[in-house]
Amino acid sequence: MECGFSLRSISRSTGVSRSTLRDWREYPEKALNRASCPRCAENPAPPEPQSDYAYLLGLYLGDGCISRAGAKEKEVWKLRVVCSDAWPGLIRECERAMRSIRPENKVAIQQKPGCVEVSSCSRHWPCLFPQSGPGRKHMRTIELQPWQRAIVCAVPGHFARGLFHSDGYRGINRIRRHLADGDRWYEYPRYLFTNESSDILRLCGETLDLLGVAWRFSRRNAISVARREAVARLDEFVGPKY
Ligand SMILES: [Zn+2]
Repeated sequence: MECGFSLRSISRSTGVSRSTLRDWREYPEKALNRASCPRCAENPAPPEPQSDYAYLLGLYLGDGCISRAGAKEKEVWKLRVVCSDAWPGLIRECERAMRSIRPENKVAIQQKPGCVEVSSCSRHWPCLFPQSGPGRKHMRTIELQPWQRAIVCAVPGHFARGLFHSDGYRGINRIRRHLADGDRWYEYPRYLFTNESSDILRLCGETLDLLGVAWRFSRRNAISVARREAVARLDEFVGPKY
């Protein structure tokens, strides 16, 4: 810094510690990255907007993955969410949420057989999604950090939307009733959320509780929302895939 101010005076006027300032002087790219990532900032803040973050967190926990992009020393990570070709609206919504949370990073859309991979590379995916780590999600503990919990509690509908858009489904269930004058078929809409991680299932259940949506386990690895008023309530936040 050749502008005549001492680190001490800059530190005093900005509140940024001298060691951090020294670090930024030596590695200017760090300063840029810090400035743009709310979790790396001197005073970490929740990512904004919280609605987009909660939605993307749901997509990531449901069916996304974070892996290293390029050489180890580059410390760049790729967030990937795979969306079926059948739901173009979901592809757009995923792309929009990624762009919203990391506006400086490009979002790539790649066509694969029957599906589209939406991805974005950043150094900050692991700080934004600290649940990332080696191995499959259901083989490790998935726990939200307090700041993530606060976001989910503030906008549970957006988190549920992300979960159901990735690993969930709203479909028509057909059941047969045996009546005196013969069998009759009934159809009613219901939601299913399927995941192999008991931690992620628990998060889904807790979020439905927050929304006042009745649910139950229909299988070991599946949450079902089938009561008429519960489906109607969840429709306010999720709705059919599109
Ligand atoms: Zn960061």
